Amino acid sequence: EAVNFSKFVNYVLDRFDVMFKQGHSMHSNHNYKIIRHYDQQKAIYAEIDSDKFMQVMDNVINNAINYSPDGGNIEIGIEETDESIILSIKDHGLGIPKKELDNIFTRFYRVDKSRARKQGGSGLGLAISKEVVEALHGKMRVESTVNVGTTFFITLPKVDTSSSRFDFN
Ligand code: ATP
Ligand code: MG
Repeated sequence: EAVNFSKFVNYVLDRFDVMFKQGHSMHSNHNYKIIRHYDQQKAIYAEIDSDKFMQVMDNVINNAINYSPDGGNIEIGIEETDESIILSIKDHGLGIPKKELDNIFTRFYRVDKSRARKQGGSGLGLAISKEVVEALHGKMRVESTVNVGTTFFITLPKVDTSSSRFDFN
């Protein structure tokens, strides 16, 4: 279905803001703040399965929080080109070594557990996320610098706004 993407992203981020306020156990001792670097009112439409894409966002944002042991801002951007929507999720955490960057989308792959990566994940989150994004004819890529932070970019095809559409609430 065609979804009002900025509204949808707001909805996903609102849930994280609530979890943070309530001191959710999953992210206890992580002092993060989510910053929205996009026009929250602007309607841009993307063709997504909102349940599945919500899982993708949850995975990437949970990673951003988990792998930022000292906390910091998680910055969310939405950019538009003629054909695409680019969602970015940027953290200021541990970062990923260059030689590992190609592997993180591989099933069960986890970067060296010695670097404060105490949370016991399975290493499936990004592999599944990438599959979901590619099934939507999108692309997923990462840029990272160790001890500076990581940014994930998810590119989705934009939907012609004159076609039939639904607003996400
Ligand atoms: P889960 O299946 O519970 O998500 P996971 O988080 O280990 O487990 P992925 O989400 O697939 O698995 O991530 C793979 C690995 O990539 C992680 O173990 C971590 O080492 C690295 N990684 C992912 N996101 C980040 C990030 N934002 N900053 C630093 N390292 C990251
Ligand atoms: Mg994960």
